[in-house]
Amino acid sequence: MATLLVRNITLLVTMDDQRREISDGGLFIRDGFLEQVGPSAELPSSADDILDLQGCIVLPGLINTHHHFYQTLTRAVPAAQNANLFNWLKTLYPIWSRLTPQDIWISTQTALAELALSGCTTASDHLYLFPNGSQLDDEILAAREVGVRLHASRGSMSLGESKGGLPPDRVVEDENFILKDSQRLVETYHDAQPGAMTRVVLAPCSPFSVTTDLMRQAASLARTYGVQLHTHLAETQDEESFCMQKFGYRPVAYMESVDWVGPDVWFAHSVHVNDAEILTYKQTGCGVAHCPTSNMRLASGIAPVWDMLRAGVKVGLGVDGSASNDGSHLLEEARQAMLVARLRAGLSGASLSSQDAPPLMTARQALEIGTRGGASVLGRTDLGSLEPGKCADFIAIRLDRLEYAGALHDPLSAVLFCAPVRVDYTVVAGKMIVKEGRLTTIDLPVHIEKHNQAARRLMAA
Ligand SMILES: [Zn+2]
Repeated sequence: MATLLVRNITLLVTMDDQRREISDGGLFIRDGFLEQVGPSAELPSSADDILDLQGCIVLPGLINTHHHFYQTLTRAVPAAQNANLFNWLKTLYPIWSRLTPQDIWISTQTALAELALSGCTTASDHLYLFPNGSQLDDEILAAREVGVRLHASRGSMSLGESKGGLPPDRVVEDENFILKDSQRLVETYHDAQPGAMTRVVLAPCSPFSVTTDLMRQAASLARTYGVQLHTHLAETQDEESFCMQKFGYRPVAYMESVDWVGPDVWFAHSVHVNDAEILTYKQTGCGVAHCPTSNMRLASGIAPVWDMLRAGVKVGLGVDGSASNDGSHLLEEARQAMLVARLRAGLSGASLSSQDAPPLMTARQALEIGTRGGASVLGRTDLGSLEPGKCADFIAIRLDRLEYAGALHDPLSAVLFCAPVRVDYTVVAGKMIVKEGRLTTIDLPVHIEKHNQAARRLMAA
């Protein structure tokens, strides 16, 4: 029974049901789970290991609900820099068709390194291309070396250009194989227990790259095994037009028609959803991965996150793939969520100085989306806050840094209002994967060189 005592935390932000913020706080951890959370003075005085976090703010680990790790190899590709979603995809599909299993391994570790250093302790990834023998196994095994919890989505594409889809035929897969491989992955890797380090999700890519039949069969398979479903939805107006023309439905209605609504489903983006569709999310329990940077980068629009939260929809944060962000800084994403929600309020036409002006999203609310919100989207009752019985997943940031100078009257808000920083500690299941600002699990300089070699090969081929 290994124990860890974390004490003298200058400000401990629990995100528990009372939203307690405890000065001089501490955590007592046993075997990867929190046993006690409170003022340092009330905790045991000894443990197998002791971590003194005087001068730090501690928060629950952030949860990333949407990513495509492999895209770290194709950031800032010149021909895709200034394109909207469909043109961006058509430029990148041929490059991605050259990915190898080794590329999946390298890019997974790159993305998870960035995530861990920016405060993430649980990440969902959506891998939907499997060229040249690549498998989701490559990602799952690479992630285990880094130590971040992973919800690995077995993505898929089956509707190639010749059948009216967007991707070229050479990057789509046979539907029977997709389903068989999905089943194999769930049976091999999915852990439904509290504290799980790996879960598997079924995730046909998007309405414009998958057939109706595959959507239905994936839903049925996921429910047989009790795993979650994930896809891109209502990201752009192009997608809305595609759904109207091809299926005769708007995207959300199309999902209802294929049995893709429920508490086990979450959608990336949901930028173009109306009030009735937001109500459908609420009534059926669908969650949303809000990806503000990607939505701005691809000029997709601004998701109505405030309306979703008011309606009681589960919302988490996603950095999205690294070719449309082009980074995996999760604290920065929380900041972007706060800022873009304010921009949307400003564009609504309402007078923001009147008594009944809509409230502006606060730093605390944005961080809540990134922690509690992400946990609820991923169906994790064991994550998202620091309270007894939950996983010992937390981050710590030193407060004596340049970025926060002059903002320490409210350290929690400083984390989002001031320039985004790298964290000093990231702890997952009681294990330090970032310590004193450095990743403990992989040799980053060596890894970056390998990553750049792989990226050069992909672009040169
Ligand atoms: Zn995406």
